[in-house]
This record gives sequence, structure tokens and C-alpha cells, in this order.
Amino acid sequence: MSSQGIEKVVIVGSGPAGWAAAIYAARASLVPLVFEGAITEANRLKGTLPLGQLNLTTEVENFPGFPAGPLREYLAGALPEDRRPFWVLDNDKQPAHGVTGPELMELMRQQAVNCGAKIVTDDIINVDFSKRPFTLTSIENGTVQAHAVIIATGARANYIGLPSEETYKNRGVSACAVCDGALPRFRNKPLVVVGGGDSAVEEASYLSKFASVVYLVHRRDKLRASKVMEKRALANPKITPVWNAQVVECLGNDTEGLTGVKIKSTVDGSFREITATGLFVAIGHTPNTDFLGGQLETNEKGYVKWPVAHRTNSSVEGIFAAGDVGDDYYRQAITAAASGCQSALDAERWLSAQGID
Ligand code: NAP
Repeated sequence: MSSQGIEKVVIVGSGPAGWAAAIYAARASLVPLVFEGAITEANRLKGTLPLGQLNLTTEVENFPGFPAGPLREYLAGALPEDRRPFWVLDNDKQPAHGVTGPELMELMRQQAVNCGAKIVTDDIINVDFSKRPFTLTSIENGTVQAHAVIIATGARANYIGLPSEETYKNRGVSACAVCDGALPRFRNKPLVVVGGGDSAVEEASYLSKFASVVYLVHRRDKLRASKVMEKRALANPKITPVWNAQVVECLGNDTEGLTGVKIKSTVDGSFREITATGLFVAIGHTPNTDFLGGQLETNEKGYVKWPVAHRTNSSVEGIFAAGDVGDDYYRQAITAAASGCQSALDAERWLSAQGID
């Protein structure tokens, strides 16, 4: 990074969108500079540490190329003998599972490094997109100027905000059924989903494939979800709605993790406990856009707008957005990585049209 030189592309964010953008931009000889975020307690509490939401999950079973099960066996079967990595034959160095979120993110980060991306472990806290080159300010590394910028800061799941919720994150408390639902601790066990929107009913329906019963706890007596999804969920014999109730405490212990939740009636204030090995919070997400200071157009929920269909251009020419920061609909690692790739190609073509190669 240099305060004199102008970077061709700065990428802000270090989830799958950011690394896919970095890999593609680096391979296009744009030498991208990636601000991967700062490792601070404030970011930990907010859920915005480097490597994004995947770094907060355990096993990832739906990212193509990493089937669950020992990778050694997969690689031994999938690759010809003369193309197998050395550790396929080395028991000690081979993990006994598919791939975890943190591993996947480290692999993506390393791939970006190998391709030539430069990385700064710092948060961008301020931007000036009103004139070119664009200016970005970080906490510890001053300002940097860039011809093009890719915003890939993602979104963070909203949690209820209970201290006990924090205690059991990754040990029963999750905000992603698709990521975590099939884990052994949730199989054939009672689970709780909190929320009343499409995400909550979708998560409850998804979890019903694994759970013995799913309690759908909603603070009102009416769902916000679309009618068709509501109908499907309420007709599911494994889903039991718990109306007019809020989760006020997560219960558990060191050895078992989460064992249940305490709920409070929003009607008469009475308390009761529900036994469960999982609490899935589905009360919406918040895109990480504060540092943009309102300089990019967003939709009514605060997600960065992509004004041109199938392109990652933002409302400001030369600024691109990738991944969950612009997507409140799919929110998957693979879709984020795909739009990261698109954003690098869009940035490369835009820079080329400006005569910057
Ligand atoms: P949402 O529609 O904003 O619903 C959030 C739910 O969480 C609401 O029911 C809300 O209760 C509840 N809630 C909010 N804060 C709470 C708190 N502190 N404690 C307890 N409950 C709380 O969010 P979403 O379900 O994530 O959906 C987001 C968007 O994605 C929507 O537009 C949705 O249609 C879309 N989506 C679509 C699909 C699909 O079509 N397959 C799937 C998922 C999401 P109240 O109802 O009382 O406000």
C-alpha cells in the first residue's frame, strides 16, 4: 500500500466474494489490495471479523468441491495417482472431515495470496467516492487511493442480543440452518427457531428434515412469512409453533453446549423452558455498509443496489459490489463467490475502458 501510488483495485472485505474477486483481479495482473478487516473485540462482538460469516460456521457441506467425509479418500478417488497431493498418503496431516468454514476461507485467502493479491488486516472506516481516484481511509494504515473499488463486506446475522446466546454460539446457537443444520448435535433432537419471516419458516422446514421436532418461536401470533411458505411450515407435523413468545435466555453447560431456552410470554409475562440442542436465530440480517457513509445507493433494507441486471456495478461508476452486501436473497457462499468473480471481471473491463491496464 502506498499513499503516493494509486492502486488499480482495492477490495474491501474478506469473505468468499472478496477472495474470489481478489483471485480474479490478481490473475488479471491488477495486483489487488484487499482490506480483510481488523481483528478487534468490537468486530468479534458484531460478527464482522476477517473471513466473514463462513468463519463463524463449522462444517460446510454445500460448497461444490468439498464433499463431507475425509478429503483424503475423496482426493484419492477423484485424482489420478500422479496428481495426488503428498498428504493424501499422510494420515497425520489430513483432517478427518470435509471442510470447515474457517478452513475454506483460509484456503481462499491463500489462493488469493498465491495469485499475487496484497492483504492489509485493517478496517476501512471512511470512503470518498465523490471524485477519482477514490479515497479510502483505514484505522491504522491511513488513506489509500484507488482507480476502482470492490465492496465485499457482506452482512451480519442479527442475533437476539442475549449474553447467554454468545456463550453457546457454535455449540448449539446458530444463525444459519443451511450451514449447520445437518450436524450430529442437531439430528433427531428438538430444535428451536426464532423469527416469523420467510427465513424463519424456511429454516424450520429445512431443520425438520433432521430434528425430532422444531419449535418455531415467534413474538406475535401471526407470521410475516409469505402465505405459501407459512402454509407449508404449519402443515409440517414436525413443526410446532410457539406464539407470542420471546427467547430470553439460552440454557446449557460446558460439556453439552446448549440444552434449551427460556421463553417469556409476550401476553402475560409468564416463563417456561423448552428443551433443545439447537437455537436457530432467523430475525434478519444487516449489511455491513456503515463505512460507506451513504455514498452508494441502497435498497430499502440498506443493501447496496446493483442498478444494471447481471452486473456488479454500483450507483457510482468505478465502484462495484459483490456478495451479501448487495444480496439479501440468496446469501450463500457459492453465490457470493460467483459475484466476487463477476465484480473483478466488471472492474477489469471498466479499468480497461478507462485506459488503465
Ligand atoms: P424479515 O422478513 O425481516 O423477518 C424477521 C422476523 O424476525 C420477523 O418475523 C420479526 O418479527 C422477527 N424479529 C425481528 N427482530 C426480532 C427480535 N429481536 N426478537 C424476536 N423476533 C424478531 O427477515 P427474513 O425472514 O430474514 O427475510 C428477509 C427477506 O428475505 C424478506 O424479504 C423475505 O421475503 C426474503 N426471504 C425469502 C425467502 C424465500 O422466498 N425463499 C427465504 C428467506 C428470506 P415481527 O414479524 O414481529 O416483526
